[in-house]
Amino acid sequence: MKTDLIILGGGPAGLTAGLYASRARIPTILLERSIPGGQMTATEWIENYPGITEPILGAELAQRMEEHARKFGLEIHQEDVARVSATDSGYRADTDSGKTYECRAMILATGASPVKLGIPGERELAGKGVSYCAVCDGPFFRDLEVAVVGGGDSAVEEAVYLARIAARVHVIHRRDELRAVKEIQEKAFAEPKITIHWSTVPISVNGERDVQSLTIRSVKDSSRQDLPVAGVFFYVGLTPSNQVFSDLAHMDGKGFVITDGQMACSRPGLFAAGDIRSKTLRQISTAVGEGAQAAYSAQQFLQGF
Ligand SMILES: Cc1cc2nc3c(=O)[nH]c(=O)nc-3n(C[C@H](O)[C@H](O)[C@H](O)COP(=O)(O)OP(=O)(O)OC[C@H]3O[C@@H](n4cnc5c(N)ncnc54)[C@H](O)[C@@H]3O)c2cc1C
Repeated sequence: MKTDLIILGGGPAGLTAGLYASRARIPTILLERSIPGGQMTATEWIENYPGITEPILGAELAQRMEEHARKFGLEIHQEDVARVSATDSGYRADTDSGKTYECRAMILATGASPVKLGIPGERELAGKGVSYCAVCDGPFFRDLEVAVVGGGDSAVEEAVYLARIAARVHVIHRRDELRAVKEIQEKAFAEPKITIHWSTVPISVNGERDVQSLTIRSVKDSSRQDLPVAGVFFYVGLTPSNQVFSDLAHMDGKGFVITDGQMACSRPGLFAAGDIRSKTLRQISTAVGEGAQAAYSAQQFLQGF
């Protein structure tokens, strides 16, 4: 199947790119392996999307974005793309169902996913106190105790952010020194509301309907402790969904796609938007803005500007 523009991934970045491209009457196909919405579909309440003044379920916002894009004629095909490659006239996407889609321009919007530790209670209490995003969920824990798991830049930065909101922030780190850069570490050490539990690992997140506590274990003497927290934020890594185009786009050391300010990748006609990009803030609002810009840049490219 041939079209002008293919959008790979139907999260907020891809759906917004699809809305803009279809509204500009560019023949566009969006390929999404699952139901559209991306990480929003796994999110309970969202309260930081501008204009939505009351908390909205992630699934509902996803559905609204899909409807909005379809209203302007966006074609969405449920396909798991197995490989993306360059052709003489643009790009092609081969799906695991054996179909081939060809286009002149492509927007990569495949997102990323937080690494899960897989400890008891983590999956069961996701969205009920277990979170992977302090900017998203931190304000739900105002004046409560929370834990942050991890010792890298993101974990420590988010612990400092949470200390402005929560009553106490417990940082659970398996080593006896942090991996975060010195400047961030100093901020954490200077924050009286942060307690660092050195050389400990989380064992289980406990609670029936919501998080009541986190059990941690010392890696030195195996002693255990129950921390009375209402929230547990895991920051043990973020995996970019780049496997199907890893040899095509230019990426940073962690596998996120490098673009310029117009969302253009290193190859002509290839663009990227959303969490797959190399950047610092991964949110719905940033994904949406980048999706709009990527569609506009693709339009300019297709029109030969
Ligand atoms: C638990 C949780 C809560 C969050 N809460 C908030 C919040 O409250 N507020 C906020 O602003 N942000 C929140 N975020 C972050 C926000 O959801 C992301 O920043 C945003 O969804 C990124 O959008 P995206 O379109 O770039 O990628 P994604 O949402 O990751 O979408 C990518 C899509 O691409 C598809 N895809 C990937 N590879 C392929 C392939 N090979 N073939 C076909 N399809 C493919 C995936 O199935 C997915 O649907 C939260 C994230 C999580 C995990």
